[in-house]
Amino acid sequence: MESAEIRRRWLSFFEERGHTVVPSASLIADDPTLLLVPAGMVPFKPYFLGEVKPPFPRATSVQKCVRTPDIEEVGKTTRHGTFFQMCGNFSFGDYFKEGAIKLAWELLTTPQDKGGYGLDPERLWITVYKDDDEAERIWHEVVGVPKERIQRLGMKDNFWSMGVPGPCGPCSEINYDRGPEFGVEGGPAVNDERYVEIWNLVFMQYERGEGIGKDNFEILGDLPSKNIDTGLGLERLAMILQGVRNMYEIDTSMAVIDKATELTGVRYGDAHDSDVSLRVVTDHMRTATMLIGDGVTPGNEGRGYVLRRIMRRAIRNMRLLGATGPVVKELIDTVIGMMGQQYPELITDRERIEKVALAEENAFLKTLKAGTNILDTAVSETKASGGTVLSGDKAFLLHDTWGFPIDLTLEMAAEQGLSVDEEGFRRLMKEQRERAKADAQAKKTGHADLGAYREIADSAGETDFIGYTDTEGEST
Ligand code: ATP
Ligand code: MG
Ligand code: MG
Ligand code: MG
Repeated sequence: MESAEIRRRWLSFFEERGHTVVPSASLIADDPTLLLVPAGMVPFKPYFLGEVKPPFPRATSVQKCVRTPDIEEVGKTTRHGTFFQMCGNFSFGDYFKEGAIKLAWELLTTPQDKGGYGLDPERLWITVYKDDDEAERIWHEVVGVPKERIQRLGMKDNFWSMGVPGPCGPCSEINYDRGPEFGVEGGPAVNDERYVEIWNLVFMQYERGEGIGKDNFEILGDLPSKNIDTGLGLERLAMILQGVRNMYEIDTSMAVIDKATELTGVRYGDAHDSDVSLRVVTDHMRTATMLIGDGVTPGNEGRGYVLRRIMRRAIRNMRLLGATGPVVKELIDTVIGMMGQQYPELITDRERIEKVALAEENAFLKTLKAGTNILDTAVSETKASGGTVLSGDKAFLLHDTWGFPIDLTLEMAAEQGLSVDEEGFRRLMKEQRERAKADAQAKKTGHADLGAYREIADSAGETDFIGYTDTEGEST
């Protein structure tokens, strides 16, 4: 089943069951606590928090998402992308646990010729939060899932909160068994590559008090109105329904792998390392295209930095694969060719998107060679003096003068057996930022209000170069 059909079925299934179809919001979150949208619930947050009265009791969407913290997983696991689409259904004080569980089961297991996705019920494994007897009872008694295929997990996996006082509650995840070729049996608690998580149901039922992080806080009591927030990864379901082994081999990705192999001459399937690089390129070019499409431009702060880091990582992986000239335009053309059906604005905006991407590629290619020389020299010097750690100064110089994102320096140093003094690097970054802030303060004139964007960039500034600010806290 094609990705477009998965999406169509999702929306019409929930629309037929009283949900209002809400189009995907931009990846640029309308929320000062987030850089980018990491989950389908973000546009509905004011309803969940009780700040705005929901205009409808039920909604459904297919939301564009970016999760930078998953960047290290990309290409290594079969199921993580920095960009993906989250299909969701939401209830605002309307149906709750039993309603959500029954809807999910019906859509997944109804045969394809009757409008569902036709998954074999015997391959579905359920996880529930360790204390959530009610969810387990519904899965077992109402839906009929045998107890052996229901597992209990702790706070880390199966309890949701935003990390601050407000709504919270247990989750229940639906996982698909891809069979023994993906490793040992034992359910999702044991093997998350074989039993791949496809859908998470969040039951917002409690009020969270103060506390620390996401797993150390007090529960104050029941929420007056209970909500449902669910998220299913469209690409993960496509991977299963299209019978491919990896999220990057589905209909809306494979052509990018093919294009990258054409541009480099490296065949997909030849070797583990080059396969990882091909998947990294594919993921990152998809993400870059979608980010530029939504108006992000490369830069050294906030979202711009997320984009820069992702583009530069993709370009460098293309060089590792053997590309020598520019590659970005052709890769982006391929992405638009596949994603344009779903997102026609990519087609009408093609020229601008390519222009932004090309400028970044040119800038990076100009400095890549010089930066690589500096890095190689620094590595040799460090080794010659018996050291194993590249100094924070060098990492900062590479960042500041040669536009090397820190993870690029980390990767390139690691390839030569060195680690990097990240703490020293961060300290220098912080000092630079403080200098810039002091300068800006000094220059403030009559029209000092640079508006919300500045604030976002500043609030994200502390940690944006490791890219973790935009996605912690918000997953469904
Ligand atoms: P995982 O445990 O596999 O990392 P998750 O628990 O972090 O997933 P959720 O926050 O529950 O994911 O998001 C809801 C759904 O979105 C998941 O069940 C999955 O299908 C999909 N999803 C999450 N992260 C990614 C990703 N990086 N790439 C593709 N799909 C994803
Ligand atoms: Mg995750
Ligand atoms: Mg999970
Ligand atoms: Mg989950």
